[in-house]
Amino acid sequence: MRARDLDSGAESWTSYDKLVIATGARPIRPELPGMDADGVHGVQTLEDGQALLDTLARTTGRRAVVVGAGYIGVEMAEAMIKRGYEVTVVNRGREPMATLDPDMGRLVHRAMEGLGITMVNDTEVTGLLTGDDGGVRAVATADAEYPADVVVLGIGVRPETGLARAAGLPLGEHGGLLTDRSMRVRGYENIWAGGDCVEVLDLVSGQERHIALGTHANKHGQIIGANVGGDYATFPGVVGTAVSKVCDLEIARTGLREKDAHRAGLRFETVTIESTSRAGYYPNASPMTVKMLAELRTGRLLGVQIVGREGAGKRVDIAAVALTAGMTVEQMTMLDLGYAPPFSPTWDPVLVAARKATTKIRATAGRPSPRMS
Ligand SMILES: Cc1cc2nc3c(=O)[nH]c(=O)nc-3n(C[C@H](O)[C@H](O)[C@H](O)COP(=O)(O)OP(=O)(O)OC[C@H]3O[C@@H](n4cnc5c(N)ncnc54)[C@H](O)[C@@H]3O)c2cc1C
Repeated sequence: MRARDLDSGAESWTSYDKLVIATGARPIRPELPGMDADGVHGVQTLEDGQALLDTLARTTGRRAVVVGAGYIGVEMAEAMIKRGYEVTVVNRGREPMATLDPDMGRLVHRAMEGLGITMVNDTEVTGLLTGDDGGVRAVATADAEYPADVVVLGIGVRPETGLARAAGLPLGEHGGLLTDRSMRVRGYENIWAGGDCVEVLDLVSGQERHIALGTHANKHGQIIGANVGGDYATFPGVVGTAVSKVCDLEIARTGLREKDAHRAGLRFETVTIESTSRAGYYPNASPMTVKMLAELRTGRLLGVQIVGREGAGKRVDIAAVALTAGMTVEQMTMLDLGYAPPFSPTWDPVLVAARKATTKIRATAGRPSPRMS
């Protein structure tokens, strides 16, 4: 393996018996005019974060534009609004949080507007305009200019696999390295790979996906460490669980969205229910929306999305476990979840969704609904 010292430029070769590739992901940075202007920031590394803080410390203007509305863009919008900035989010997607179905993304959209954030969806940035001092002054789209003293980019990442590609290692359709269950690169006895540079098996759809999350990278590290050290361990795959927030709004998802289920050739029903975080009569109960997808005929749980306030986000873990266990929505209805008024209604919102999904699946199969009190 050849390496170059980035300070001195000196190159050296190192031989290996076993190689681990953990090159992570590269933030997408489109080649648009003004992208390198002062005041334009990505937030991939700690250095990026410090550079943004330095810009905020020396900038007197108070207008921030965030480009992209995935979880990083949404969290950056929160960070800027909490610092007292006027925040505009420009987003190519129909709604923020493309990891949700658009009807659930719409709830996030409304909540962000409620926080005073200006949301511009369905809009592509065409360039960044700079002032005489070379600093960014506006974000341009096809029909408008959004004044900006600082711009934060959150437009996604791609697997960093330039090195792997050059070495001829196998890459998947999403550009990530392909490994077997032991995280060994397919077809290579002594090379392992993990983290944001690999594709993972989606246990619900059976397809490979690229999901850049620390929760997977950490597990990959443990599996690879065990195998490289002569032990034996495997990574089973993922169900696609993710949780994030914007101010007090919690956003969570696991499993398949409608478009993922279509892509996988699955037929399904969806239900969406409104419930509350605590018993309705208990102080500070807050509304929560749960959307659930279940496979036609089998009733297998396919996915859950949750948007709500305190206590909404981590509820998705119930569904993550049910997905991993391959449960049907009907089986979920009898899960013995904890209940007391400060924590949930008698029927947890996830179970309410499972009941409604069960009724719908049974109706489409021409079977009566089970009797449930
Ligand atoms: C702002 C932000 C917030 C996040 N929040 C969450 C969260 O809440 N939950 C969650 O699960 N995940 C989160 N993540 C994602 C998480 O940080 C990543 O999934 C995780 O860090 C990936 O680990 P990794 O080891 O694969 O890659 P990285 O941590 O990116 O490490 C890759 C390393 O490889 C080095 N490298 C790359 N190419 C080469 C090369 N050719 N030669 C030598 N070195 C190279 C890089 O310099 C880097 O040090 C967040 C990410 C960001 C940016």
